[in-house]
Amino acid sequence: MSLPPCPNCQSEYVYPDQNQLVCPECAHEWNPNEVAEAAFVAKDANGTALEEGDKVTLAKDLKVKGSSLVLKIGTKAVVRRIIEGKDHELDCKVDGAGEMMVTAKFVKKA
Ligand SMILES: [Zn+2]
Repeated sequence: MSLPPCPNCQSEYVYPDQNQLVCPECAHEWNPNEVAEAAFVAKDANGTALEEGDKVTLAKDLKVKGSSLVLKIGTKAVVRRIIEGKDHELDCKVDGAGEMMVTAKFVKKA
């Protein structure tokens, strides 16, 4: 199991101490679970946090890039992956359209 680098100084010589991680170079101590919780959260049209595996419906009609297909509001989809830092954060499997990237604020948690 590899440990994440120190968030303070990027040192790779981090070691675990009970449920904390400790950096020997800058003496920074932190809880990796808290860091994970502070990670990117994709929010739907209502501001509800989305998780991988969530069932969602489209909150508006969406044009599919590069085709004439329009996904209607209410179309069901499943969130397969959430990707940080993209315009389209959700890698979804959309009913009738297959896999595509969808912007989180254009869906609603079902
Ligand atoms: Zn450090």
